[in-house]
Amino acid sequence: MLPLFDCFPSLRNRLPHVPLGTFPTPVTEAPQLARILGVNELYIKADGFSSQPFGGNKVRKLEFILGDVLARGEREVMTFGMAGSNHALATAVHAEKLGITSISMLAPQPNAHYVRHNLLLGLNSGARFRYYPGLQRMKKRAPYLRFWRRITRGRAPYLIPPGGSSPLGVLGFVNAALELHQQVQQGVMPEPDIIYLPFGTAGTFIGLLIGIILAGLKSRIVPVRVVEPEFTPSGYAAGLFAETAALLRSYAPSINIPDPESAELEPREGLLGQGYAHFTPQGQAAVALARESGNIALDGTYTGKAFAALAADARMGMLKKQTVLFWNTLNAHDFSPLIRDTDYKRLPAALHGYFEGDVQPLDR
Ligand SMILES: *Cc1c(COP(=O)(O)O)cnc(C)c1O
Repeated sequence: MLPLFDCFPSLRNRLPHVPLGTFPTPVTEAPQLARILGVNELYIKADGFSSQPFGGNKVRKLEFILGDVLARGEREVMTFGMAGSNHALATAVHAEKLGITSISMLAPQPNAHYVRHNLLLGLNSGARFRYYPGLQRMKKRAPYLRFWRRITRGRAPYLIPPGGSSPLGVLGFVNAALELHQQVQQGVMPEPDIIYLPFGTAGTFIGLLIGIILAGLKSRIVPVRVVEPEFTPSGYAAGLFAETAALLRSYAPSINIPDPESAELEPREGLLGQGYAHFTPQGQAAVALARESGNIALDGTYTGKAFAALAADARMGMLKKQTVLFWNTLNAHDFSPLIRDTDYKRLPAALHGYFEGDVQPLDR
């Protein structure tokens, strides 16, 4: 049973939802990392194990979004991301399981090994790729493509926003916070003082924030910016908070979610480096530390930068007395056996460059 439905039974038969993974995800302690960094207690929430063959944070959002797709009788979705998008891949993998076709509208990003792997698994999952040389071009072309589908197939694809951060998708993380609350009540970990996580399209952050308010947890969240402010400018997360709160109230009018201070809705700056998916020395040092001292796999685009913020705060002595939770949003399953025999030449030619060109220096 979903913790969200446990807490608010009136939502149970009204909200669309399709199970796609294994929950609750594990919480583990990382005592050696805590000692090295100077954190009182450090725990990891391993959302990487949320589903097979591709887990990570997007599964939680897709349970509500694809539930809605099924409830509406739609058979085709269209979503958006950069070439190596975990979200576009998760959408393709989980849509395919449900017999839903996905169109991935992709735009350029710095090259990395994971971009290649994600493209190949997407290909094997039946994703239809469209690649545009820039975001602006992609945004302009998407309506024409939808219109064309409507003419030729009688129906336009269901749109899933970048990162799956529609209010419905955000509910996946409202539920995740209630799941954490249950784990705290069961003694899996003490109530965290601070939770660190990456801030991309803000859905993970805003869902957890709303869930923490509803659960009455005291935890403060530090969302670490990993995308350019052009995508999620100041006030963006506040808008998503308001929309998601309104969605919940529309189903259950008794749910009361007081608005946080607007400063609490802004991400931590300073870890982004040159931009989205540009690995940074600080981020890569955090990836190496987590691997060597915690046996935890992080990445250069999202989780490494978020963990670098945690490490920086710890080294300044700010976490000496704190119970800290790192919310690991990264897929943890090795899917390389599934793509070993996949030929990248079956991808649209415009994407071959990711396989023929070099990866960025910090990913070598
Ligand atoms: C998409 C993603 C994020 C960002 O989550 P948002 O809800 O978009 O902020 C963080 N980590 C990983 C590994 C992701 O794939």
